[in-house]
Amino acid sequence: MRKPIIAGNWKMNKNRKDAEQLITELVPLVKDAKCDVVICVPFTDLDTAVKATKNTNIKVGAQNVHWAESGAFTGEISADMLKEIGVEYVIIGHSERRQYFGETDESVNKRTLKALEAGLKPIICVGETLAEREKGKTDEVVTRQTKAAFKDIPKEELKNIVIAYEPVWAIGTGKTATADDANSTIKVIRDTMAELYCKNCAEETVRIQYGGSMNPKNASELMAMPEIDGGLIGGASLKAEDFSKVVNY
Ligand code: PEP
Repeated sequence: MRKPIIAGNWKMNKNRKDAEQLITELVPLVKDAKCDVVICVPFTDLDTAVKATKNTNIKVGAQNVHWAESGAFTGEISADMLKEIGVEYVIIGHSERRQYFGETDESVNKRTLKALEAGLKPIICVGETLAEREKGKTDEVVTRQTKAAFKDIPKEELKNIVIAYEPVWAIGTGKTATADDANSTIKVIRDTMAELYCKNCAEETVRIQYGGSMNPKNASELMAMPEIDGGLIGGASLKAEDFSKVVNY
């Protein structure tokens, strides 16, 4: 019903030569994947990645996008610029951007609206910090982030959007949420989507990934959970063999 989607987030890693090499290794390893396969690479690798994945089942994503059409926004990249070079997905609101670059619920929504207008598929990240989790605020935080991200987004766009639930304390730390915890928080996000749109849309159309130290060892357990529709993979996406094992969970 909901096709799983596994996306790699390379963050600020790999020059063009490394990118080409990783993709060349990855292509045969994931060619029979049952899920959608995406690699989200640094801006400078996008062109290389689009060319190296041509005629394969691997799609390319960026890691951020600006909300304006063009103009005086030094250092930013527009949705049309990404679309023009063949990028299909874009990560929006990753916790590292919220934490280090002033990303807010409001800017996540603005970027999402613009990405959709250009025909890109946003991967919207939500998730609580360790302090929020310890205060018992996980459900409240992901509900707030989800509602804000989807402001003014019409139901027809839901098929083009992926949500990634990424508990901040599990990213790059080796700590994974238990499969049950990840599943129940994703259920909270799905219930929020049902409230915002409709029960059927939330259950049939909205794909929600888990992200946070997902790797070849824990992927199958996480992917077996009924609410988890895929993964956003950081560290384990930097080696073709590891990433392919997650993809072929
Ligand atoms: C991420 O960067 O989105 C992520 C989940 O990283 P890691 O898999 O390394 O925890």
